[in-house]
This record gives sequence, C-alpha cells and structure tokens, in this order.
Amino acid sequence: MPIDLNTLIEHDASDECPVCRAQNLVDLALLPAVAAWEMRSELPHLSIALIGAAGLLSALLEEGVPRDDVEATLSRLLDDYEQQIAENEVMGGPPQGTA
Ligand SMILES: [Zn+2]
Repeated sequence: MPIDLNTLIEHDASDECPVCRAQNLVDLALLPAVAAWEMRSELPHLSIALIGAAGLLSALLEEGVPRDDVEATLSRLLDDYEQQIAENEVMGGPPQGTA
C-alpha cells in the first residue's frame, strides 16, 4: 500500500495529535542529541542535523515514495516551522524547557 504523506502531517484536534507528539519528540530529544553528537564527534555545527534529515527522508524513498512527494511534503513542514520560529520571535525567543 502506498504511503500517503499527507496523512502523516495532518494535525488532528486531539491533545494526543500524532504530529504534535512527533514534533515534541524531535524538539526535546532528537535535536539536542544531534547537537551533542556533532560536538562530541567534532563535526561542523548542524552537519548531522542536515545529513541526518536527508538520511531519515531516504527511508521514504526506499519505501517507494516519489521524491517529488517527499520534497513537497518537506516544504509544507518547513513552512510550519518557519511560522513557528516567527511566532517564537514575536513572543520573545524560543520556549525555555517546556515539556
Ligand atoms: Zn498537532
């Protein structure tokens, strides 16, 4: 069965929204771990973040998802993140250690 990327990124209205839960995991666990790996491995800042993101996305390609679909979906997600970043700047910086 082909993977429908749209279903993976559609927020639902629940408190247990899978998209929000995934974003929280990335923000609270994955990004800090990646930053630590970069520092510990003496790799350039954000190198694993960028290459890791591409590597994770390659799993979609291996599942047979067309690259155009991956790129279009990624673009939508980045739009969301850009909006979030802009909102955080208006609020006076990123949230501090909220869980
Ligand atoms: Zn959500």
